[in-house]
Amino acid sequence: MEFNVFLLAKYPFLEEAKSFLESYSTVSFENLSSDEDYTRAVKRGVERIKEAILFKKISFKNENLIDFKAEILSFPIAVAFIAALNDDFLRNIYATAEGKRIHELLKRDSYSDLELLLRDQKINFYPSEDSPSSLYKIAFSEYLKVSPQKWGKIWKLVNRQIKLGFVYVTREELSRLVSEHIKNRILERSRHPIDAESFSGPLKKGYIELKNVWDSYKSRFAKFEKETSEVSFPPCMVRLLSRQENGENLSHVERRSLVTYLIAKGQSIEEIINLLKSSPDFKESIARYQVEHLAGLKGSKKKYSPPSCETMKSYGLCFSDEWCKGIKHPLQYKGKPFSQTSKN
Ligand code: SF4
Repeated sequence: MEFNVFLLAKYPFLEEAKSFLESYSTVSFENLSSDEDYTRAVKRGVERIKEAILFKKISFKNENLIDFKAEILSFPIAVAFIAALNDDFLRNIYATAEGKRIHELLKRDSYSDLELLLRDQKINFYPSEDSPSSLYKIAFSEYLKVSPQKWGKIWKLVNRQIKLGFVYVTREELSRLVSEHIKNRILERSRHPIDAESFSGPLKKGYIELKNVWDSYKSRFAKFEKETSEVSFPPCMVRLLSRQENGENLSHVERRSLVTYLIAKGQSIEEIINLLKSSPDFKESIARYQVEHLAGLKGSKKKYSPPSCETMKSYGLCFSDEWCKGIKHPLQYKGKPFSQTSKN
């Protein structure tokens, strides 16, 4: 079977990549740790994850095409590392970074790559013959599966052109949808349990290196957690905070609600920026400007207040508990009275 190895190096999750690896794997399991391709693949697998942790994206350079075997094999190795490290926060960071890499590649590659990925992921799509502003249409059910409505206004179904069970999307939007779909599949794949004790040779060495990098990265957030745990946060903010800490990509409204609340609670700009570093799309200069703007230090110099309970409810972000009764604003939340806390 002929393989387009350059394509597989770019998209190592393709079904065809599995056949390639099966056909290539002539090395016996016992001799694996002395196989040079394998050793380089482990190294690149470690690099994939380190880049995701440190830069929130995974690089793709032309050299990756030259060493295509290592590049293709490094993907399942990286997924195995993530499964063995078994941390949802890291899982999310890694899958999001892979999704971003795919999206970036699709932006610069030909239409045929996008169509190939759609077919590989079994997403039914059709060129749109009746709408000049959109290039493709996909089934309503496929659109809902990826659930892009939380990405912002333009993705909400009310703002989409829908006709006879199809949602119309541009090529760029379709690239984003397929990247998100693949990200979700990587998340699923990395949930299959793998025991790190089964690793040996380069795999074991790579695992230890990654564990150290990850432990030190996580410890940066421990200080913030300790400080916030001593304050009574209402359930709406606890949820947003924990999703943020788990590396989820909060929507604009969610992030703004959390940041304005933290500012009002007296968290410093640096502490908030540190917290936002777990965002998959984190860019320090942009985050810093936004936080300083909300704190009234930039732009209009107006300090923004966190949303009221009514507004939080309208966003679908209210998860009230018994101590929310009678309050109109998250800042009024006092939580469990101290007398009850000390009895527990
Ligand atoms: S009632 Fe207010 S403070 Fe309580 S969870 Fe809802 S929005 Fe938050």
